Amino acid sequence: MKVIALGTGICANGHLEGARMWPPGFLIDVDGTLILLDCSEGIRYRIADAGYDYGDVAHVCVTHGHPDHAALPQFIQAKACRCIFGAGCRVANPCAFYLPRPLVDRFRALWDWCQPENDGGYWNEFTPTFVSLDDHATVTLEKEILLTSYSVPHGFGRHPAMCFRLETKHGVIAYSGDSGFCDALAEAAHDADLFICESENRIGYEDVTKYGHLNPREAGEIAKRSRCRRLRITHTTGQDEPAAILHEVREAGYHGDAAVARDGDIYIIEKP
Ligand SMILES: [Zn+2]
Ligand SMILES: [Zn+2]
Repeated sequence: MKVIALGTGICANGHLEGARMWPPGFLIDVDGTLILLDCSEGIRYRIADAGYDYGDVAHVCVTHGHPDHAALPQFIQAKACRCIFGAGCRVANPCAFYLPRPLVDRFRALWDWCQPENDGGYWNEFTPTFVSLDDHATVTLEKEILLTSYSVPHGFGRHPAMCFRLETKHGVIAYSGDSGFCDALAEAAHDADLFICESENRIGYEDVTKYGHLNPREAGEIAKRSRCRRLRITHTTGQDEPAAILHEVREAGYHGDAAVARDGDIYIIEKP
């Protein structure tokens, strides 16, 4: 199983000289089954750069609706139009989108805003299916590939947001999405082979308003509690040095394999 970091940055660019990390997205290749964790703007170009075809992505798991995580209209439109404009195109492959339950319902209004001429529908060439995710619920993506979702606090607790645990025969991947400090993250990442954890807040920043992000020390604390084997810190602004971020992770008591994720990273996960 291969995990490719397509986007390890945040919602903005240009805030720092030289910082050019893409917004969130991780592509997972499980024996040829392609799963996307978060779907930010232009992600199909990064999928292509990684040597894959976005037409082959079969499962898109979205943690929450913030635009840096969920550029879904563009992805859906591209899947359909590529098929319309390309004879023999194979992008008609089925593709399911997994979202927190309230966001599945609300997506209809967004789709109608984008495509009022469709009367709420899609296209014969490509019709997505939507799967509603609930707290502590497991869905089967494919044989021996299970996704469990956990509600997490984000957007002052007003945004339906989730973290994920993906279980495969090769190992377990956990992904925080955007989240404040909570037990659900450690539960999702329990004994995981790889935990991809956000740390949008800077070193030392205390989230007193409870907006719902982690600082590096909190990410390390959750990693320690989860006993995950590998930790990759993502969704950083680039304002803190990676070495300083890792120092915080160590200070929190996590002593496993840890690093700050970078766009283009590839993580191989296989049972020993
Ligand atoms: Zn967010
Ligand atoms: Zn975000």
